[in-house]
Amino acid sequence: MNKKKSRIRISGFKLTQILLCLFIAAGFASCKHENAHWAYGGDSGPEQWGDLSTDFQACKLGKNQSPIDISNAKTTDLTALTLNYQDTPYVVENNGHSIQINLENAGNLTIGEDTYKLLQFHFHNPSEEAVDGQRFPLVAHFVHKSDAGDLAVIALFFTTGKENALLKPVFSNLPAEEKESLKGDSAINPASILGNELAYYAYNGSLTTPPCSEGVRWIVLKKPTELSIEQLSAFKELYSGNARPLQPLNARQVLQSR
Ligand SMILES: [Zn+2]
Repeated sequence: MNKKKSRIRISGFKLTQILLCLFIAAGFASCKHENAHWAYGGDSGPEQWGDLSTDFQACKLGKNQSPIDISNAKTTDLTALTLNYQDTPYVVENNGHSIQINLENAGNLTIGEDTYKLLQFHFHNPSEEAVDGQRFPLVAHFVHKSDAGDLAVIALFFTTGKENALLKPVFSNLPAEEKESLKGDSAINPASILGNELAYYAYNGSLTTPPCSEGVRWIVLKKPTELSIEQLSAFKELYSGNARPLQPLNARQVLQSR
């Protein structure tokens, strides 16, 4: 039911965009698809992302793309992560590609001299990153941005087990409709969700969704946390398989803290 509805909306959107582009192209030399529709399968799936828009070229031409399979990471003294997070009001948004928790004033992450403000986190099923070829049932990506505009993302894996009490307010009331947003009743603290075990893998990558921009600092926590099968199912009812395929490592080296 849900799927049918969104498919109709997508084709309507596509048609509108094609007509609009034809109209614009008649008057101007080029027609960009800045808000081109993309998906995790079919005609606008990951293999096509790079061709959907001139803005999405990094998806096919980039050499430092995410996600990757993490294996043979080089052990080194990586700088410890300092999470200066605080309780913050939040809004749970169904953005058409995932469930995203937008944070009003969550504080920041410091790695050595670098400071990044935490903006939001969202989920992928299965996890986009793999470790030694294995994907987890779910991953949360905590997206941070520095004042200079640089992005840093912390990835937190989930295994199924006991209910995740900290995320209960989110998973027990997921916005079912695309573009629907629900304001959280109380505050949320991202530091409690991430926990205290902050050993990590580090590598340079990209956004895992169009426009696949590179220069993203990836921090993948080694220690997974848990959620219940019911919580995972609630997410999968809305988004199942919203994970980009693994990308080649190319010349990159993955590092890991001790
Ligand atoms: Zn993500």
